[in-house]
Amino acid sequence: MKLDLRPLLAGDRLLTFDYELPLDISSEDAGSFLYGVGFPSPMKVKGEITNTAGYMRMTLSASVEYRTECARCLAPVSGEFNLDLEKTVAPRNLLGDLDEDRLDDYAIIEDGFLDLDGQLTEQLEMEFPVRFLCREDCRGLCPRCGKNLNEGECGCETKEIDPRLLPLQKILERMKEENKK
Ligand SMILES: [Zn+2]
Ligand SMILES: [Zn+2]
Repeated sequence: MKLDLRPLLAGDRLLTFDYELPLDISSEDAGSFLYGVGFPSPMKVKGEITNTAGYMRMTLSASVEYRTECARCLAPVSGEFNLDLEKTVAPRNLLGDLDEDRLDDYAIIEDGFLDLDGQLTEQLEMEFPVRFLCREDCRGLCPRCGKNLNEGECGCETKEIDPRLLPLQKILERMKEENKK
């Protein structure tokens, strides 16, 4: 949603908003930060912008349901993610000489409007966890047979050989074979 801030710019003191933002971020795009995450329902957004003698401040809170999978065992994981955002709101022409880093602290008004959806998706990408676990101590999958180790041992040799030692191990095996001859 683009918020019409012209009334605030003209002197109104308060603007409230309460709406739902469907997240059509492509979870299939492997380059996306949210790759592999599904959002089955729209993000619920509620907040306000106050205007105190020209100084505008936005506070909002948003929540969204997500579905993804455990980074270790691939079991489905779902939950609700909450986002709180507080920013100073200002027209671009007043921020003219700020550099890009500082601009991130502001919600910028362009031609009287604020792109709230853009602010929200940007913030979500910044704050959403990179990976989820089904539980803190998830044991993951066996790297050899793929069995889910939360369901029990698989019987594979669990001691992993350091890949750097593999060539050495091959030499030792060959020596053993030679000795047999
Ligand atoms: Zn897991
Ligand atoms: Zn195994």
